[in-house]
Amino acid sequence: MKDFDVGIIGAGVAGAFATLKLAKDHKNVKAILFDLGRPPMKRRRQLEGWLGCLPNSDGKLYQSDVGKVAELTGLRRAKSAHTWFRHVLEEIDDFKVIKDRSPSAAMEKKIKKLGYDISLNDHVQIYPKEIHALSKHMAEVIERGKNITFNFDSEVIRIAKQKNVFVISTDDQEYRCKKIIIAVGRSGWRWAKELYASFGIIDNNDIARFGIRVETNSSVMKDFNKSNCTLTKADLEIGPLSWFGTVIPEDHVDVAISAFRSNENRWKSDKVSFNLIGNRSFPDTGFEQTDRISKLTFVLANDRIIKERVSTILTGKSRISIIPEYDWLKEVITDLGNLIPEVTTKAYFHVPTIIPSAPKINIGDNLETEVDGMFVVGESAGIHGILSAGIMGIIAADAVCK
Ligand SMILES: Cc1cc2nc3c(=O)[nH]c(=O)nc-3n(C[C@H](O)[C@H](O)[C@H](O)COP(=O)(O)OP(=O)(O)OC[C@H]3O[C@@H](n4cnc5c(N)ncnc54)[C@H](O)[C@@H]3O)c2cc1C
Repeated sequence: MKDFDVGIIGAGVAGAFATLKLAKDHKNVKAILFDLGRPPMKRRRQLEGWLGCLPNSDGKLYQSDVGKVAELTGLRRAKSAHTWFRHVLEEIDDFKVIKDRSPSAAMEKKIKKLGYDISLNDHVQIYPKEIHALSKHMAEVIERGKNITFNFDSEVIRIAKQKNVFVISTDDQEYRCKKIIIAVGRSGWRWAKELYASFGIIDNNDIARFGIRVETNSSVMKDFNKSNCTLTKADLEIGPLSWFGTVIPEDHVDVAISAFRSNENRWKSDKVSFNLIGNRSFPDTGFEQTDRISKLTFVLANDRIIKERVSTILTGKSRISIIPEYDWLKEVITDLGNLIPEVTTKAYFHVPTIIPSAPKINIGDNLETEVDGMFVVGESAGIHGILSAGIMGIIAADAVCK
């Protein structure tokens, strides 16, 4: 048994920023960081290891993430953590916020007439060489802090609570931590579900978030003025619109999910792509439905990502037409066809496209769960995005020290 004040499970964006905060501002706190992937500068797998998804991501830090975190933590905490995050970035470069443009006035009018709201996505763009520099900088600062033990190539199998202490088991060791921060992201979404179930803290498992990723030539979408906006209506999300990159498979070992990348020259194309996601209700089985649909669509594509014409959804000839859970797509595609007629004739779609999220649990404004001393951050808390993960990691690190 090894004893620590804090255990951080997952060295992705949220876990790495939590660790950096502990190393810089709470040097008296003895912490251990676990990741099933490789250490800094030795990463191999796409989503696992130091900084998790970030080196593989499109590198867009959406400023709206601050608001998403603030809904949980309150605006003051979220803004102050954002300022701390910005200072870390400033160690690497002078990043500017790119203001998003609006679609043309005529397009905006059409979108609103169909009942959709438009949110513009101001963002900071970081590129692979800057991500590399950030990764190196953060690892060096943490190592200098001396209060952190790194434990890479080390999957956390189980966590149990015994007499106010968490016992964390890997396949060859047990560790005792007074408090823990769960930060296992999308590669750990199934693991997180099991953990939450074992502690009996699942509040709601009713929503499955899945759909398609549409891809088309940028000329087809010219009325959107290269906007990165997201359109929302009731339980639907279309966006963010992502320009001049290409769809890549996001590797989850047993499935690949369609994702997008543009921030490197080799990915550049004259395409625009966007998620079209439905937040569908399946009482008590939202997680299981999401999992089932991602696996089913992957099998239908012979263990690849399906690419088909959008029109096949309307004619019922798509491979995914045999899955009744996708019936809602027809209505949305018809909406899209009203906005941009060529989408129904020229565009392609990709599946599986899902938002991998563990079932919902109750989280306090300091990011603590209903289990005393267990905090959750990033995608493990059901919030997606690089910036939100970083901000939540910073907030949780301060909270565990109180
Ligand atoms: C291709 C791609 C493009 C993206 N582009 C963008 C973008 O442009 N903008 C944006 O805001 N977001 C983007 N995202 C999403 C963003 O990367 C994530 O929302 C963010 O990384 C979540 O951070 P996290 O810390 O919650 O999880 P992650 O960064 O996924 O980290 C989780 C870590 O936990 C580890 N782990 C999992 N299970 C265990 C276990 N049992 N034991 C030990 N360790 C474990 C994993 O190895 C991983 O390192 C993209 C994602 C992908 C895949």
